[in-house]
Amino acid sequence: MKRIVLFLTVLVLVSAAVAQKISVSLHNELNLQTVLITPVSGHYTIITEDGNFALSPNQIIYISRVGDSVRVRDMASHFGTWKRISIVGHTDNDVIRINSIVPSFPARIYDENLVFYVDFNRLMAINIVDIDKYIAGVVEAESGPSAHIEFYKAQALLARTYALGHIDRHKGEGFNLCDQVHCQVYKGRASRNPDILKATKETSGQIVVDGNRDLIVAAFHANCGGQTANAGDVWVTSQDYLVSVPDSYCRNMPGASWEVRIPIDRWRQFLIDRGIPAQDMEPSQFAYSSKEREYYYVVAGKKIPTTDVRTFFNLRSAYFSVDIVSNMVRVRGRGYGHGVGLCQEGAMQMARRGRTYQEIIQHYFQGVSITHYTDVNGFDEDINIVDID
Ligand SMILES: [Zn+2]
Ligand SMILES: [Zn+2]
Repeated sequence: MKRIVLFLTVLVLVSAAVAQKISVSLHNELNLQTVLITPVSGHYTIITEDGNFALSPNQIIYISRVGDSVRVRDMASHFGTWKRISIVGHTDNDVIRINSIVPSFPARIYDENLVFYVDFNRLMAINIVDIDKYIAGVVEAESGPSAHIEFYKAQALLARTYALGHIDRHKGEGFNLCDQVHCQVYKGRASRNPDILKATKETSGQIVVDGNRDLIVAAFHANCGGQTANAGDVWVTSQDYLVSVPDSYCRNMPGASWEVRIPIDRWRQFLIDRGIPAQDMEPSQFAYSSKEREYYYVVAGKKIPTTDVRTFFNLRSAYFSVDIVSNMVRVRGRGYGHGVGLCQEGAMQMARRGRTYQEIIQHYFQGVSITHYTDVNGFDEDINIVDID
């Protein structure tokens, strides 16, 4: 048994040095108390401070929080209670399922290794996984399974750029990234299209940098409506590379246009609340048309940021025109999302028409370069992975 411990420890250390691993807190939004884990393929061993347990294929193991410790059992017997356990695959290709029981949550499937311990009054479930497999999972969660491989490569570069730029975000909590929107949505292994993992492997290590060779803000959105937005018009800070560019690729895609109707009184009150004397105005005066993306909705000579209109009425985008139809305010818009950076539907179309991922990145991010992360300011050979043993 001792020899197996040593073997597995060495295996984990060696593989960490060769393939870059990242630690991701799973179900970071849930107050996990009990989960059920099942090896899906490969061979797993539970490593504890005083012994190991080899798992058989499809064996069901319950892992529960008991006070500040982790209790492990199967259907038949109680294995023990420890402060921390690792569930380690014998190769880098092993796959395991987690099914949250308390609280109840649908099963998800993960590559490679898991670590469990108690912190923040909950069971922490950490996936220690090759960064490219993590990136593939993120790309699948963010963009679906039916795009062209060159699109997936572009999206992989953005996901990797973001991950490395935020690698210390949860350092104080003991892991690199969480699996929520706060970091990047990660729902486990990419399994719906083999091109996704292929795209991340073929671009392994590549990230996007600006003119100062710093990692870019890797912004993207569903559809820009034909023109992307300046970052400075949407957020507090602008960036030289996040500037508005025309985009003919997304115009006939599903997210290209939308329409909503809003009661006139509600629209009027919105204007009054922003200092516009709309109580005395004819509804026709609310009309506004924009040939291109505008920073302001202008009414009665006054200006309201289009982003403010978007937020208040929960519109799909801040790129719209206004008129009055059937005694309602009709808002007709273009695009879906904030409009900054890469337009996913446009990028998908570029890829289908034979453009490369480099061309896609260069189209949506002006003046950037693609490089290996070891050439970036602040990074050397090894990513500063939060140490989990
Ligand atoms: Zn996070
Ligand atoms: Zn677009």
